[in-house]
Amino acid sequence: MNTPQVIKLSEKFLMHTYSRIPIVIERGEGPRVWDKDGKRYLDFISGIGVMVPGYSHPYILKAVQEQAKNLVHCSNLYYIYPQAKLAEKLCELSFADKVFFSNSGAEANEAAIKLARKFGASRGAYEIVAMENSFHGRTLATLGLTAQAKYREGFGPFPPGFKFAPFNDLEGVKKVISPKTCAVIVEPIQGEGGINVALPDFLEGLAKFCKEKGILLILDEIQCGLGRTGKIFAYQHYKISPDIMTLAKPLGGGLPIGATLAKEKVASAFKPGTHASTFGGNPLVCAAGIAFLKVLEEEKLVEKAREKGRYFQDKLQNLKEKFSFIQEIRGKGLMLGMELNIEGGKRIVKECREKGLLINLTAGRVLRFLPPLVVEDTDIDEAVDILEDVLENL
Ligand SMILES: *Cc1c(COP(=O)(O)O)cnc(C)c1O
Repeated sequence: MNTPQVIKLSEKFLMHTYSRIPIVIERGEGPRVWDKDGKRYLDFISGIGVMVPGYSHPYILKAVQEQAKNLVHCSNLYYIYPQAKLAEKLCELSFADKVFFSNSGAEANEAAIKLARKFGASRGAYEIVAMENSFHGRTLATLGLTAQAKYREGFGPFPPGFKFAPFNDLEGVKKVISPKTCAVIVEPIQGEGGINVALPDFLEGLAKFCKEKGILLILDEIQCGLGRTGKIFAYQHYKISPDIMTLAKPLGGGLPIGATLAKEKVASAFKPGTHASTFGGNPLVCAAGIAFLKVLEEEKLVEKAREKGRYFQDKLQNLKEKFSFIQEIRGKGLMLGMELNIEGGKRIVKECREKGLLINLTAGRVLRFLPPLVVEDTDIDEAVDILEDVLENL
């Protein structure tokens, strides 16, 4: 089947939930992918932040192959060794004592919502406060916490008990909090919302306030967590420790997994039978997750994200000085955004793709860069050259 035939087949049989770019990606290696027609791309969006160690990482491939030979699936009716090992590793790396595994980011947040409510139930607290411009997933409850109208329209009514407050405005959040609030949920760096970085005063003030009031702080690190920002977890840029944290995108090395992490005191609100997932934490994805964390550590990808991020950010700043239509460069590590003060972001994304660079546009006017953390300076040079070329000819 050639590219137009795959597109035709997809349009015929798949629900039209995505406005897809008309290429068919067939193969990947390191920070690069190839489409069906053999065209090569530098992937600076990496499956929306998933392929942190690059494509076809030999160590992860081997771990997956070996686990698949033994046991792909085992239900949570039984004990699963790779699941326990992955949980141990995540707890060692973070503030957490306990982990619940699911299959996606939305499910990880759904579990966080349920856990926070179960924890708050004894004092009648069930409200959860989320930030404006947030993105927490596409299930009804996580959409209930996702502020942006474009995701919500036509799907209401949502489960009650969700409220919104302005991001980076502590007084604004305090106004929305009530005695019924059980938790506040924040992305330390908003991803879909346009790469908006939480200010230290805001996040640290919020953590302190939550602690005083007995309100749980949930951090959604599904996009910013696991090395991308130059720390293993984005909250480590701040003097805070959350009560619950959710992870997903890169955790399975490309396989679908979600994780909800919590302190013991909170986690113990879940009792046998209170929450479950058929596939959650199955042997195959957990073996991939263990391999991913090993690669992250051994190849020093977190340090690399910091270093390469600085290099990339400097180059993007140079472009900002050159082009007046660039409003701002922001982000941390290799989670970067370029805000434009003109329309035309879509065209930039399209023309970059035609020249062999994959990026995307979020929040209407923000070009988003989430390259694999294995990118070298030469890859960044290549990406910036393509981008500069496109911006020059806009
Ligand atoms: C992608 C994302 C989600 C949702 O994850 P899915 O795996 O698509 O359900 C939730 N929160 C954040 C911050 C995300 O970036």
